[in-house]
Amino acid sequence: MQLRKIEDLELTGKKVFLRLDLNVPIKNGKIQDETRISEALPTIKYILERTSRLTMASHLGRPQNGGSPADSLEPVGAKLSELLEREVVLFPDYATESTIQLLNTLSKNQVMLLENLRFNPGEEANNVEFAHALVDGYDFYINDAFGTSHRAHASVSAAAELLSADRRAAGYLMQKEITALSEIVSRPAAPFTVIMGGSKVSDKISVILNLLNTCNHMLIGGAMAYTFLKFKGIDVGSSRVEADKMDLVETIFRNAESRKVQIHLPVDHLCANEFAETAAAIPVSGAIPAGLMGLDIGPETQKAFARVIRESKTVFWNGPMGVFEWPKFSKGTMSIAEAMADVRGKTVVGGGDSVSAVHQSGFASKMTHISTGGGASLEFLEGKVLPGIKLLMK
Ligand code: ADP
Ligand code: MG
Repeated sequence: MQLRKIEDLELTGKKVFLRLDLNVPIKNGKIQDETRISEALPTIKYILERTSRLTMASHLGRPQNGGSPADSLEPVGAKLSELLEREVVLFPDYATESTIQLLNTLSKNQVMLLENLRFNPGEEANNVEFAHALVDGYDFYINDAFGTSHRAHASVSAAAELLSADRRAAGYLMQKEITALSEIVSRPAAPFTVIMGGSKVSDKISVILNLLNTCNHMLIGGAMAYTFLKFKGIDVGSSRVEADKMDLVETIFRNAESRKVQIHLPVDHLCANEFAETAAAIPVSGAIPAGLMGLDIGPETQKAFARVIRESKTVFWNGPMGVFEWPKFSKGTMSIAEAMADVRGKTVVGGGDSVSAVHQSGFASKMTHISTGGGASLEFLEGKVLPGIKLLMK
């Protein structure tokens, strides 16, 4: 199965419906991070070079009860207008009238942006009537919303199905994400090191098990490391442990052993006597005494992890090594980004918090690929066929 690409379609003069992921953080009407908008530009520009009949659609956040003005895509429309040097017309009400009727009222130098898809209950319900209102009358359906491709929502799933397979395709961001992540799951250059961290083993178990099929080393940090250490019989004080998930850890160790994957656990920590930003950082080597909790990996672990990372040809990282949001406990996480920046090979980062961490580190530009899809990239790496991607296959 192969992806149908936007370049495979003859778009000249045609009417195009484009699903984007313009779900950017907005505070008091100001966009905080434009990454998702700039990543959408290559596809938008490609289309506009061939046709002016374009409707763009995206969700924004998780609006409740039909949404409020704070959930409006209006600031995104204004930004797009500036970047595209065209008038971007935001249509708030397109569920009663079909979007194509609205598009037909526009002039040549105007493009259409639909208001937040999630203002309509039909979006998350994958409602077919709503899907008809979205895409009826269009010649082509392009999906470039990788970050939403794991959700079978109307604009991703039901709407795509209303056009025949030869009329739908993947945009450039979708292609870039799929290429980068596919290389991680199939045939990564060895040594391949996976770095897992973050909050819970139970959240990441499927990704870990799938990546154990191809990796040579797995470095475990973050809160999840304490469940691993506890399983090994090492005292972890009051660190966060998923006591009821020991069976998962056992499965991971068993699979790692049979696949000859080396699992590396932290040997020292930065601890605190309470879960608070203001708590003093106390270095601990080996077992953690009662009353202390591990909030970051220590300097010896940082060195050992960096050594493995620097010798790798492929590195995938998901999950911070500590509470990186607090400066005192962020060094471990930053040291991973720094070591990855030195790798002569492929480096891929996925996961919402990991992506903010790599941006915070200042080494983002040194990575081969930083995924724009948090949940979507992890589900992809679990080996799942994501519903939005499945519909873009030839
Ligand atoms: P991602 O979003 O990249 O997949 P997660 O959501 O799994 O990552 O985990 C990120 C969260 O884990 C962060 O908010 C971080 O503060 C927290 N975390 C990391 N290490 C620890 C720890 N030792 N104790 C408590 N929380 C931790
Ligand atoms: Mg997260």
